[in-house]
Amino acid sequence: MSITENLKSIEERIAAACENAGRPRNDVKLVAVSKRKPAKAVIDAAEAGQILFGENRVQEAQTKIPMCPKQLHWHLIGHLQGNKARLAASGLFRMIHSVDSEKLIRSLDEYAVSPLPILIQVNISGEGSKSGCAPDEVAALIDAANSCSQVEVHGLMTIPPFTPYPEKARAHFSNLRNIRDDLQETTGTPLPELSMGMSNDFEIAIQEGATFIRVGTDIFGGRDGGLGLE
Ligand SMILES: *Cc1c(COP(=O)(O)O)cnc(C)c1O
Repeated sequence: MSITENLKSIEERIAAACENAGRPRNDVKLVAVSKRKPAKAVIDAAEAGQILFGENRVQEAQTKIPMCPKQLHWHLIGHLQGNKARLAASGLFRMIHSVDSEKLIRSLDEYAVSPLPILIQVNISGEGSKSGCAPDEVAALIDAANSCSQVEVHGLMTIPPFTPYPEKARAHFSNLRNIRDDLQETTGTPLPELSMGMSNDFEIAIQEGATFIRVGTDIFGGRDGGLGLE
């Protein structure tokens, strides 16, 4: 199937999942994850109407973005090393989904020249992926972001441990939503965005409140070297 056909079928799945969950379709934004795919694939997706793309490495994005149409929006979704914060904050990305330390918040704020929306990545399961802060550290990171001049926290992100059974991700997604609901109460900070759900499990994430789903494989096809989560 072509990228255009894949996007059409993802759109149908999103619309069905929203309807199922009793949510309006425009509650959910599709991040097309183009990591390890050439600019040509992005251009094809853009021609099919996709505007929002996600990359997981700053350097790969830095080379790819200038080769793509100017009107596209880019989000950083992968682990961000401190030494890449300056480049990541320099205007390549409209949002960074993977912020997991106070140190990173401070350096993004130092380097950002305009308001920079971020999500805090939470390691819900405490296992699997090494990225993400512990659930009990999120409040301190929200405080840190609230003391910044450019960094703005918009919500939370998670990557559940990989499992071939999408239903197993549900508890992680609902946990993230509950943590968000609690933190909104206790910190008084609006946290409207929940970035969760990938090719395998985005319908379940939508049922559990996702506002950003990050889909790579089901749009662009498989990648050499596996999932490539970092
Ligand atoms: C690669 C990646 C995705 C997309 O995963 P697919 O299974 O290909 O849809 C989503 N989120 C992150 C953080 C990723 O690195």
